[in-house]
Amino acid sequence: MAENSNGIRPLVAGNWKMNGLAAALTEAAAVRDALPSLGTGAPEVMICPPATLLSQLASTSRGSALAVGAQDCHPSASGAHTGDISAEMAKDAGASAVIVGHSERRADHGELDRIVQAKASAAHRAGLSAIICIGETNGERVAGLTLTVVERQLRGSIPGTADKTNTVIAYEPIWAIGTGLTPSPNDVAEVHAAIRKNLEDRFGADGLSMRILYGGSVKPSNARELLSLPNVNGALVGGASLKAEDFLAIIRAYA
Ligand code: PEP
Repeated sequence: MAENSNGIRPLVAGNWKMNGLAAALTEAAAVRDALPSLGTGAPEVMICPPATLLSQLASTSRGSALAVGAQDCHPSASGAHTGDISAEMAKDAGASAVIVGHSERRADHGELDRIVQAKASAAHRAGLSAIICIGETNGERVAGLTLTVVERQLRGSIPGTADKTNTVIAYEPIWAIGTGLTPSPNDVAEVHAAIRKNLEDRFGADGLSMRILYGGSVKPSNARELLSLPNVNGALVGGASLKAEDFLAIIRAYA
């Protein structure tokens, strides 16, 4: 098992966003089939497909090392919420985790920290891990507000039910998502250290062991440098998770 300085097994999670018809499952199958050859140094690997593919991906991945996650959930377990899916439904379809508070949902659907917190809490209620996304806009970064924003999002988005087994934080600077831009290694290390301190202050020993992923234009060429930084316990990968070859190259940065 690959472990970094905190003894945490890294997680590399692919977020397919609104991409992928059934034919794309061949990419996920190629990832699944390559995992056994990575041996004991491998990180945990997850793919979060669109909701339409959750159940199919979960059934073709059952018994393998590939975990499956959902991209969002509603805070309620069921009810009159047309078009939404609940954490219980994602779990029923075979997910073990759900992404909440992705910046695209915060922007496109006006999700505030308290909604993200309710969704993370719903994930815990259903027995799923919550991958809680936080990160600053470019304007906030330029104004020197990165740590202020990140700390506010941590305070507002993580529910009291969080512990080291059911919660993962994904630091995703919004300006780095899908742009090819990444913060400098020093900047990533500084923000992750601040997140770690915040988690430790609030959750004690569990806060020291919660995974903190970096996300935003991770690709094969920068994965090793980004993923070897202190307090970076894996990656949330968008575009580069769509092709098995690229995603596996990122996974191998840890293996
Ligand atoms: C994301 O949206 O979670 C993400 C990290 O995207 P990309 O890797 O494409 O920047």
